[in-house]
Amino acid sequence: MKILENNIILLKNNTILLVNFNFSYFLTQYCLVRFMKINYKRYLLYLLRWQLSTPILAGVLVVLASWSSLSATIIANLIGGLIFFWVDRFIFTSSALDAQWQVEENIQCHDCGRIARGYRLVKTQNYDRTGGTPEFRCEKCSQKKTQILKQAGVAI
Ligand SMILES: [Zn+2]
Repeated sequence: MKILENNIILLKNNTILLVNFNFSYFLTQYCLVRFMKINYKRYLLYLLRWQLSTPILAGVLVVLASWSSLSATIIANLIGGLIFFWVDRFIFTSSALDAQWQVEENIQCHDCGRIARGYRLVKTQNYDRTGGTPEFRCEKCSQKKTQILKQAGVAI
């Protein structure tokens, strides 16, 4: 077995195995969770997009099976980049995915007063509290508040 690229492994029988083993991928995941206001819709789409990249890149490698592994990998990554630049741009900038949550550690819940991890809905398609005074809620109270907002017609 030989690792050709960060996500391509060449087995003994010269079969190319494409795996999503990519350090930058895991680093991106960590940064998304740790530092951004978490938008689970974007996050889920981003994870699905990574699943899509595997069959597409594998398909290109099958088509280019007669090429050298290196050339085929370069072309596969080029095609992947041409496609996923636009997909990623949509995932990270589309206002259609705009439900934004702010998560903070050790806050006092606005409803029950408990000190816990606090959640706050900042913005969705028809809800905007970006300029308002932040009201964080613990997970339990946040779920209740989310239900109330949903019943009031807020798209979450
Ligand atoms: Zn609470």
